[in-house]
Amino acid sequence: MKPLIFDNIDEPGLNTLAVYERRGGYEMLRKALAMPREAVLQEISDSGLRGRGGAGFPMGMKAGFLPKGDMPKYLTCNADESEPGTFKDRELMQKSPHMLIEGIAIACYAAAITQAFIYIRGEYRLQGDILEAAIAEAYAAGYLGDGILDSGQPLSLVLHRGAGAYICGEETGLLDSLEGKRGNPRLKPPFPAIQGLYDGPTLINNVETLATVPHVIRLGGKQYAEIGVERSSGTKLVSVSGDVQRPGNYEIELGIPSREIIFGLAGGPQPGREVKLWFPGGSSSPVLTRDDLDLPYDFDSMAKAGTMLGSGAIIVVDDTHTVLEVMSKVVKFYAHESCGKCVPCREGTNWTHKMVHRIESGEATPMDLDLLASVQTQIIGNCLCVLGDAMAMPVGSMVAKFRPELEAEVEAARERAGTPSLASAGAGVPVH
Ligand code: SF4
Repeated sequence: MKPLIFDNIDEPGLNTLAVYERRGGYEMLRKALAMPREAVLQEISDSGLRGRGGAGFPMGMKAGFLPKGDMPKYLTCNADESEPGTFKDRELMQKSPHMLIEGIAIACYAAAITQAFIYIRGEYRLQGDILEAAIAEAYAAGYLGDGILDSGQPLSLVLHRGAGAYICGEETGLLDSLEGKRGNPRLKPPFPAIQGLYDGPTLINNVETLATVPHVIRLGGKQYAEIGVERSSGTKLVSVSGDVQRPGNYEIELGIPSREIIFGLAGGPQPGREVKLWFPGGSSSPVLTRDDLDLPYDFDSMAKAGTMLGSGAIIVVDDTHTVLEVMSKVVKFYAHESCGKCVPCREGTNWTHKMVHRIESGEATPMDLDLLASVQTQIIGNCLCVLGDAMAMPVGSMVAKFRPELEAEVEAARERAGTPSLASAGAGVPVH
C-alpha cells in the first residue's frame, strides 16, 4: 500500500514550508476554499474517517454536531499524546507540521470556525518548537491570518503547551487546561460540540485525524472510503513497541491482519521468544494473546474481540515477562495520573495499586485475584471520564486471561517472602 500521511515523511526539510509546497502542500487548502464549505464537510463525511486519537468517532459526524449560525466556534487539535505506547503524532508533527496545519485550515473552513488551537503535551518541546516555526511560516504565506488565500475566511491558530498531565489528553480536561484552569474532566453532556472551549461550540480532533483531511480532499471522500474495510476506512499510523525487533511507527491499511504488523513490519519478538500478550490500542486497551494475532486490525474487529483499536499503539510483551510485572506498570501509571475528581477512579486505581503490591510482596492469596477482578468491574462505566476504565479494562482482562499464571505468581511471591501458609493467612484479607 502506498502511504498517505507517511509518504516521503523522511524527506529532509519537509518540516519547512518551501519543501512542503514543492511537494504540493497547501494545494488541497486551495481546492477546499474553492468549494462550498458544505461540500468539503460532505467529503469528510463520505470518507468515513474515524477519529485517530482513541474513541474512533466519525469526524464528519462530529463536525456536523456543531450548531450552525454566526457565533464564535473553536477547533482544538489534541496533540497531548500521552497514552503509553503512542508516539505517532510526535513523528508526524516533527517531520510534517504543515500537513497538520493544512488539515486544520480545511477543517475550520468546512465547519465555519475562525479560531483554532493546537494543545501539545509539554514534554514535546522539540515538536512544539517545530510547530511554532511552521505556524509563523503559514501566517507569513497567507495560509493563516485574516482572509486566508484571499478567500475572506479568517483563521487564527495558536499553539498551547501543556504541563505534563495525562488527563489533559481527555478532551474536556484539555479544554479546562486551555482555559487556564486545572485540567479536570467535565461532566458530559453538554458535549464540547455544543458547549466546549469558553462555552462555545468546539470541534476537537486528534493530530493524525486532522493531518488526514488534506488526503481526503485530494482523493475525494468516496475514494478514500475504498481504502481499508467497511466502517474502518483509510490508513492508520500504528506505533509498535515492546518486545519486537523493529519498534517504530508504521502506516497501515486498516483491516490487515495484526500478525502482519507485529511480525511483518515490526519483526516480532527476538528469535526464540514468543508473544505472550499484546495491547492493540495503547496500555488502556484490554489485552489480547498470541491466539489473537490473526485478527484484522480495524475498529470493529477489535471491538468484537472485546478490546479496542484506541490510539493505534501496539505494545508487545514476550514470554520473558510475567503478567504481574505488566499489570503493575499499568496500574502504577493510571493510579498516578488519576485526577481524583470522582470516587470510583480515585479510590479504585489506588486500591488496585495496593492489591497488586500485596501480590508482589507475598501477602496476597488467590482469593485476592477475585477481589481485584471485582473492583475492576465496579470501576468500569462508573467514572466521570475514561481514565478509570483505562486501568480497569486491561487489568480485568489480564486477570481473566492469565488467572493460572497469576495464581502461581501469588504462591511464588508468598514463598519468596516466607509468608505463612494460606490456611493460616486466611483468604480474602481486606486491603488496607
Ligand atoms: Fe478524574 Fe479519574 Fe474521574 Fe477521570 S475518571 S475525572 S481522571 S478521577
